[in-house]
Amino acid sequence: MSVLDRFRLDGETVIVTGGNRGIGKGIATGMAEVGANVVIANRTAESGQAAAEEIADETGAETAAIPTDVTDEAEVQAMVEETVDRFGSVDVLVNNAGIAIHEPAEEKPLENWKKTLDINTTGAFICAKHAGREMIDGDGGSIVNISSMSAFVANYPQCQVDYQASKGGLEGLKLQLASEWAEHGIRVNNINPGYIETDILTDDEELIETWKSEMLLDEFGTPEDIAPLAVYLASDAAAYVTGSSFLIDGGYMVR
Ligand code: NDP
Repeated sequence: MSVLDRFRLDGETVIVTGGNRGIGKGIATGMAEVGANVVIANRTAESGQAAAEEIADETGAETAAIPTDVTDEAEVQAMVEETVDRFGSVDVLVNNAGIAIHEPAEEKPLENWKKTLDINTTGAFICAKHAGREMIDGDGGSIVNISSMSAFVANYPQCQVDYQASKGGLEGLKLQLASEWAEHGIRVNNINPGYIETDILTDDEELIETWKSEMLLDEFGTPEDIAPLAVYLASDAAAYVTGSSFLIDGGYMVR
């Protein structure tokens, strides 16, 4: 088998939460390009369906959109069951769904703290729990969490203490799941992006200039910069990789 063949996911089934737009859509497209069946699991049904159809048209892959709120365990369980009914297995889970709310810590309403932790961290756990059960009953699998460089560094000048905590939580989640599920052939890794051009970023020009001035590479990354690493971690090419975190940040963390 050639080295590029080891990156292929022919016939494997990949769930991407928040796969309708932004980083998730870039990853879903990348997985489809290497032969996977792709399930888009996000909140808004219409945009999920549109993304699934667009990716299928572009790549020829089998895709499905299953509207899911990752904080709702019954919805997640139903989404995983529907995935198995439709494609026969769950081989890869990409926990990508996430939000960020900019507010100073001393003013942050508790409900916003809880909302961020609920979606970014608890949602990832719920999806891992249900997809993990299928992987344990099947042939193992790969879980890729879209964490952030924010797991390792304070961001400036925006205030987002809940986001930092939620992404730090994903680092612990990764370690423990990798440890508990290694015996089942499940690998668990994190991708830690820096600033990537998506809806989650702000329109505030001053903030944007500040962020860019802190990177070694002057521009924001794109979802297409994240997809290749997600494909690698999902695939047999990363067979010896588990419990690790990988920065893609344009050199932000260097200084
Ligand atoms: P976007 O705002 O473009 O996309 C967020 C995605 O999350 C949407 O698909 C949205 O679906 C989905 N989502 C939000 N809440 C839920 C929920 N409760 N259930 C299911 N889906 C949900 O952001 P990005 O693409 O930038 O973010 C993707 C991930 O990457 C996030 O985890 C983010 O923290 C992380 N990240 C992003 C960085 C960046 O600079 N862009 C940097 C580092 C990490 P819907 O449209 O249906 O609401």
